[in-house]
Amino acid sequence: MAPMLLEIITAERQVYLDEVDVVVAPGIEGHLGILPHHAPLMTVLQPGELMVRKDGVESYLVVTGGFMEVLGNKVTILADAAENSGEIDEQRAQAAVERAQEQVRNRESDVQLEEALHSLRRAQVRVGVARRRRRTGAQERMEQPR
Ligand code: ATP
Repeated sequence: MAPMLLEIITAERQVYLDEVDVVVAPGIEGHLGILPHHAPLMTVLQPGELMVRKDGVESYLVVTGGFMEVLGNKVTILADAAENSGEIDEQRAQAAVERAQEQVRNRESDVQLEEALHSLRRAQVRVGVARRRRRTGAQERMEQPR
């Protein structure tokens, strides 16, 4: 099947632009799989992992929420923040997890709790995607001939 174009942009930069075969995005009501020539769609995304398959190779990104539009064989994602798996600073994300957990414990209001839980979710997704990349990288190295 002919591929579709995927563009991911934030207020700061273009994170991704390429032709891809499949996109699985974290919609607010669950994961949404998009194949080429999908019907027009506009939806809200939640913080989560975004999977892209191109030429049989899967890669992962983090989006921390935003909007996704599917129109005319193009998927456009306007994300609050987004990173390719290789761009994630895992230590920073792990520190953010710990900071957010501390904020959850010490919250003084429901608003603070909600903000802390959002930070926690973003950071957990980043840690998860960074770890998966480390694991997959290790696997690829193991599979190489000696
Ligand atoms: P932190 O508390 O570590 O700053 P955050 O959740 O507050 O994390 P965001 O507001 O989601 O960060 O993002 C701010 C900017 O920093 C965005 O450009 C985002 O892509 C980038 N960013 C956040 N965390 C990481 C990370 N662990 N690795 C790489 N880039 C990150």
